[in-house]
Amino acid sequence: MEKVKCLIIGGGPAGYTAAIYASRAALSPVLYEGLEPGGQLTTTTVVENFPGFENGVDANELMNSMRAQAVRLGADIRRGCINGIDLSGRPFKVNIDTGDEIEAEAVIIATGATAKYLGLPSEQKFRGLGVSACATCDGFFYRKKDVAVVGGGDTACEEATYLAGLCRKVYLIVRRDVLRASVAMQERVKNTENIEILWNCNTQEVLGDESGVTGARLLRKDGEVFDIKIDGFFLAIGHHPVSEMFAKWVRTDENGYIVTDGRSSETNVPGVFAAGDVQDPHYRQAITAAASGCRAALDAEKFLKR
Ligand code: NDP
Repeated sequence: MEKVKCLIIGGGPAGYTAAIYASRAALSPVLYEGLEPGGQLTTTTVVENFPGFENGVDANELMNSMRAQAVRLGADIRRGCINGIDLSGRPFKVNIDTGDEIEAEAVIIATGATAKYLGLPSEQKFRGLGVSACATCDGFFYRKKDVAVVGGGDTACEEATYLAGLCRKVYLIVRRDVLRASVAMQERVKNTENIEILWNCNTQEVLGDESGVTGARLLRKDGEVFDIKIDGFFLAIGHHPVSEMFAKWVRTDENGYIVTDGRSSETNVPGVFAAGDVQDPHYRQAITAAASGCRAALDAEKFLKR
């Protein structure tokens, strides 16, 4: 059985940054990238808000650089997924999908979260061509255009108000006749002139052509079917943290996000740390994930030295 000092699970900004810091701390980290090397960011195109890139940076290029930086510093980055894990006692036992088994002294969970989608074939078809689940990432490309946001929670309201500052018009497609969002967020949305709330509406189809999204077909509860003309279709119906595998040992909140202790990355299991979107329902940015990956590696280093 292979013995590892610091095992990092997840190949997004949090995981790669943890690998960079853990390598420099001589923890010889081994990182498994999972199903989506590069993480959620690779579903977008240009990243314009990651500091240090005056003209923005291609998302895949950014993630490849982070990965290469970690490798150069000594991280052992592997393709592959964790099939099973036992966090009941140290060393932690981990099964890899290749059939290999690992014993790890410390584990950093950086498995991220996946955005929920409606599940429409047309939505799938136009992903990256006008369909996005991240307004902060992609909103800029719809300046002075009309877009729609689906959802009625805090995220949808926040994304709608963010987009309203960039776009000509924002439709907020809400499936009920109330918003789930906090009162303050609701007020912000209702007081923003270029946001129109389409109550009691569900999306039947995302419309488009070879250039990308051109509209959406909606069904209102009263039976009326109508089309709206839009260039961007943003999903904000929640995220799903990838934490199921750890939930038997690691404390999660009611939405499945791993609970960490205060500003640290420590979970309730000594030696197990969490970083990035799997423990962050609020910020969900590449830069905040990277920062929490740094914290997790520093916490793991301190733990292993103790
Ligand atoms: P929520 O689960 O709170 O809201 C999801 C929204 O999407 C709901 O309005 C829901 O409708 C709607 N929805 C779900 N599935 C569908 C579907 N298939 N079709 C249409 N609509 C659908 O998720 P959020 O991401 O908004 O928020 C997650 C957590 O993060 C919350 O606790 C929130 O308060 C918090 N948050 C806080 C922020 C802040 O404080 N600034 C910012 C962002 C998030 P319905 O209401 O009918 O169920």
